[in-house]
Amino acid sequence: MYRYIVAFLLLTSVVRAQAFENQFARPLGTMIGELGSRFGVKLKVEVDTAGKQVPWADFRIRPYSLEESLSGILSLFDYRAVKQTDGSYKIRNYEYMRRTPDDGRNMLRYLNTLYPDKASWEKRRSCLRSEARVALGWEAAMAEMVPDPRFQLGEPRSYDGYKVRNFALETLPGYYVTGSLYLPAGKGPFPLLLMPNGHWPEGRYNKDEQIRFATLARMGVVSVSYDLFGWGESALMVGAVAHRTSTAHVVQLLNGVAILDFLVGKTPALKPVYNKHLKISFDPSRIGANGGSGGGSQVIMLGVLDDRIAAACPTVNLASHFDGGCPCESGMPVSLSCGGTNNAELAATFAPKPLRIISDDKDWTASVPTLEYPYLQRIYGFYGAPVSNVHLAGEGHDFGPNKRKAVYGFFAEVFQLQHARPDESKVTIEPKELMLSFGVKGERLPAGAVRSVQQVDRHLNKKTAAAISSDFDIEKKVNSWLDSLRLGDAAKEARVRAVLIKHQKIVRDWHNDHPYTSVPAGINPLNGKPLSDIDREVIANSGKPASVHTDLMEGLRKDLTEAQVETILDFYTIGKVDFTMRGFKAIVPDLTPAEEAYILQQLKLAREQAVDYKRMKAISAIFEIYKTNSEQYLNANGRNWRKLYKDFTDQLKKNK
Ligand code: ZN
Repeated sequence: MYRYIVAFLLLTSVVRAQAFENQFARPLGTMIGELGSRFGVKLKVEVDTAGKQVPWADFRIRPYSLEESLSGILSLFDYRAVKQTDGSYKIRNYEYMRRTPDDGRNMLRYLNTLYPDKASWEKRRSCLRSEARVALGWEAAMAEMVPDPRFQLGEPRSYDGYKVRNFALETLPGYYVTGSLYLPAGKGPFPLLLMPNGHWPEGRYNKDEQIRFATLARMGVVSVSYDLFGWGESALMVGAVAHRTSTAHVVQLLNGVAILDFLVGKTPALKPVYNKHLKISFDPSRIGANGGSGGGSQVIMLGVLDDRIAAACPTVNLASHFDGGCPCESGMPVSLSCGGTNNAELAATFAPKPLRIISDDKDWTASVPTLEYPYLQRIYGFYGAPVSNVHLAGEGHDFGPNKRKAVYGFFAEVFQLQHARPDESKVTIEPKELMLSFGVKGERLPAGAVRSVQQVDRHLNKKTAAAISSDFDIEKKVNSWLDSLRLGDAAKEARVRAVLIKHQKIVRDWHNDHPYTSVPAGINPLNGKPLSDIDREVIANSGKPASVHTDLMEGLRKDLTEAQVETILDFYTIGKVDFTMRGFKAIVPDLTPAEEAYILQQLKLAREQAVDYKRMKAISAIFEIYKTNSEQYLNANGRNWRKLYKDFTDQLKKNK
């Protein structure tokens, strides 16, 4: 009862405080809180609501539906409410790679209408295969692969029925894929399994992972386990942050292909292939891929990209409504191929070759038995070929014993393994230190290895991940400036936006192309001291053509009032004119109007000059010059700046 009274009071106050003139706007945070109480549902907010206002706020509420009300206000901010199993909701950012099982159902139903028969399916399949390559920038990346790669092979470590050898293979110039080969006893010819890693704790050093690689080797398969981009030893070359980039999406797949190229040759062979480094033979008709979670995403894509793969087992990852939450799985827009696709359809392109999907109850693969598996059965039905699903009811997102058992069973059957009985008890779990190619401190990293993700990006047919996100940051910043100007004229806004974005990109690129080191060290004529790094940066940045600045100012003045132009300049310099002026007034409490006018003019000069500099440090350095001018002016005007400043700081200390 109490709740309803509170709600009633809130609602009446709303009705009084709001009107047409202010768009009935109310704070987003308050709106969410009220909806929670009104419907008696827990809403957990995982987004930033600070300062966000909902226009026409209460009109968006539908008293009969919490979900419609939430979507009415959240969609304005690209947020959404995700229902939890306990009936509560989490308010989250929009996730481009995650949808709902209902959406998966609708999508698969729609996709099925595109191919009533095998012929129409195969047309679709060739579209998917080609557009997925375009989405990845695949051909250009392949062209950059090292034709005669450097290869490092570690000493064998012998265990019960198998051996392990570490390896590092140069895939792009100076970039190495690192991993361990799990080798059966004997000379082959052996089947080969690519084992791309998922995001498991400890990556490929994870115990569950080691058990699977080694057990399959004991069963007669060469398992190739290799690091994710930016994980394990890859981090020595590109750093750990490089993992969550679109570069990882491309390079991880390229690594799988490069490993196959190196071990069994680029073109599919009909006879056993002898590898002189390993001194064993491979059977090129028995090449498979298996991986869990993010590793499963790689398995699906390797199947799309590489014909040599004859059997695939993506584990705890496949769903029609989730593309993989990491940019290494969804960083490039593969799922936009052919008007929109998903992992279930991409996996279907593997038909009629043997495919097993392993799923469980406690992650997004819970829908496999009812959605994705029947869909795959229909496609495999075009060929009269089987496809299998091992669904582990009650299990969660891991690579535990039952999942591994399903993997062993699948490959034992399709590769007709002689030692079909897996025995995990014979496996030795190795410490991570033993599994490293480059040594514990990276001491064996080859000379000439790349040391940044930018060096890798250079080989991909795309802007560097850093450049993409930097462009995006500039556009976002400019949009927020324009939002606050409220120009109310779309054409005008578009012109000003173009002027601002162009200017900031030129400033950024000039800065990046002219580092401070391009200016020789020397003496600063102003103070006789050696030039500091920031002095040199300012000098390097000041060499831009004058048109960079005049284009900006003329472009702004064409469409904006002088006050609006000043607001923009203040945005560039984060309000330094005002901030510095307040400082002068605090230090010189009896500042005369003439003095104030002079200082203001100096600070505005600083501001207009500073907008052409990228880094805040350089902007501050420009302001310093004009602050010094102002101090000298005050001294010339009969004041003692040094004393005024000292009195001011003494007073501050006293007040503390
Ligand atoms: Zn990832």
